[in-house]
Amino acid sequence: MERTAARLAAVAAAITVAVSLSVSLNGCTKAPEKGSETARNPDDFVARINKEMAELADEANAAGWVQSTYINVDTQLLNAKSGERYLAYFNKTVEESKVFNAGAASRDSARALHLLKLGVSAPAPNDAGKRKELTQLTTRMEAMYGEGKYCPEGAAGDSESCRNLDELSETLAKSRNYAELSAAWAGWHTVSRPMRKDYERFVTLANEGAQTLGFKDLGAMWRSNCDMAPEAFEQEAARLYGQVKPLYDGLHCYARGKLAKKYGEEKVPAGKPIPAHLFGNMWAQQWNKIYSDILEPYKGVANLNVDRALEQQKYDPKRMAQSAEQFYTSLGFPKLPETFWERSMLTRPRDREVVCHASAWHMDGNEDVRIKQCIVPAEEDLSVIYHEMGHVYYFLAYKDLPYLFQSSAHDGFHEAIGDTVVLSMTPGYLHTINLVGSVKPSKEAVINQQMKMAADKIAFLPFGKLIDEWRWKVFDGTIQPADYNKTWWELRTRYQGIAPPVERTEADFDPGAKYHIPGNTPYTRYFLAFILQFQFHRALCEASGHTGPLHECSIYGNQEAGKRFWEMLQAGQSRPWPETLEKLTGKREMDASAIIDYFAPLMGWLEEQNQGQACGWEPVASQEAATAPDKT
Ligand SMILES: [Zn+2]
Repeated sequence: MERTAARLAAVAAAITVAVSLSVSLNGCTKAPEKGSETARNPDDFVARINKEMAELADEANAAGWVQSTYINVDTQLLNAKSGERYLAYFNKTVEESKVFNAGAASRDSARALHLLKLGVSAPAPNDAGKRKELTQLTTRMEAMYGEGKYCPEGAAGDSESCRNLDELSETLAKSRNYAELSAAWAGWHTVSRPMRKDYERFVTLANEGAQTLGFKDLGAMWRSNCDMAPEAFEQEAARLYGQVKPLYDGLHCYARGKLAKKYGEEKVPAGKPIPAHLFGNMWAQQWNKIYSDILEPYKGVANLNVDRALEQQKYDPKRMAQSAEQFYTSLGFPKLPETFWERSMLTRPRDREVVCHASAWHMDGNEDVRIKQCIVPAEEDLSVIYHEMGHVYYFLAYKDLPYLFQSSAHDGFHEAIGDTVVLSMTPGYLHTINLVGSVKPSKEAVINQQMKMAADKIAFLPFGKLIDEWRWKVFDGTIQPADYNKTWWELRTRYQGIAPPVERTEADFDPGAKYHIPGNTPYTRYFLAFILQFQFHRALCEASGHTGPLHECSIYGNQEAGKRFWEMLQAGQSRPWPETLEKLTGKREMDASAIIDYFAPLMGWLEEQNQGQACGWEPVASQEAATAPDKT
């Protein structure tokens, strides 16, 4: 679900372009010497660091790629070393940049100097020893997650009975046996226990790094990557959540009723949080795996299950990726470079450990773009590859910008691009590419389609919101290490209305069971992306001349929409995001009204369904199991 593992590995510029652009901007034809007085010209300085950072990023990306696709002690070492080097350079450069008065710089250089400070997701302290320690910690936590296996008591680490995240997730998705689900959920949550001490130390060091850059703490630094003050950003996220909360509450109420039918009222009581392991997903963040047997409103109406078609038509990983490429080229976007096909990892290798978590990579700031995903021929993976391809096309659209502008308008944009395209994978589109039969439009069919979509898009919203709320409080010290797990569950209960299936204590470190915590990837971007994608979708549909209900629109094949989309992508991070947003949508604010429009039919239906139900939930004591332990 994301682009490259760390921001430091995210981007690199076409070096010659960076230099020539800056030269033409300041009209200077003589290359300044490092450290000389002429190098004090901010425009020259920015041109130099754009070039140097691009070179270092090439190496960091290569080391990051090989570690993620071939986990062993050597690749961990190489990746940690290159990360360390990049961080050292970064700190030195930020220090140097402090002599420049942004007022004396060109508009672009002033922006570049600001963005420079925000260039890594975990800035290191100035002390070399601590810098080394920080990179070792992040590398080790990520590896622990990637290699994580749950071995039943008494089993050796390499025993056949040990299961990795893929296998445990498979159980979560497919089993409907309460005890078996509990065991798989609890099993995966043992993997993160040993991360707790590392994470605690990581927080201290990364905060120290953020402070050397002039931020209060790391969370405040993340929040300033949004062209607004950290407090304003926090309020903005809260405002948007307030807009969408009624959608989630309606869905939660409906899902609880259905789950109670399935597992019994004593396991899923009315008015209480729902056990977290019953949603078909390890984190209860998306509920699509329980759609067809539990959530589907009208049995068998407009069955959109494309798994069977993918299997019957013998789709392999490459063909699935080609299907995604074909959608983007239908908008007038370019074909993928040959190197994409040669260098991507689209299948899980049999002979080595890899990080299967899907990601998109911009290796050289130019055309070397890649996807790392362990694709299986299933509907979900088809959506994921369409999503990842959005990152790839964003990379390609902004590749000609200088290094420091080769990024998302704000982080949420990057995640929203591919998802915007996924919204156009309507039944009509899937029929066009022969993955579903023709769907007769009926009220029941619409409700089924929307429920399926809501299980993915609306179910996610509270989860997307709470992850960083927890981390912001960890980084600013409101949450102390002694309460890591308790506060985690307080937020999960408050936002998601869920409770752990088995009792938790502070010996657990459940936040670490979600990739983005050990991987130190900011998460609010996903929340914003889920709101923005509907806003983008509505704007593109308008551009394409679509008139009917929003949920029926697909921009597939529409070059006018494609042109507008591409223009927005090309701006990268060169301008404050409200400007970029305005380009496409005509508005300078993020707005959740499009997601509300989109789901209007479902929301009306849910209101009827939930009448007379005791919706909402009373919080349970935060780490208590949702229901009494299973006796059997
Ligand atoms: Zn993504």
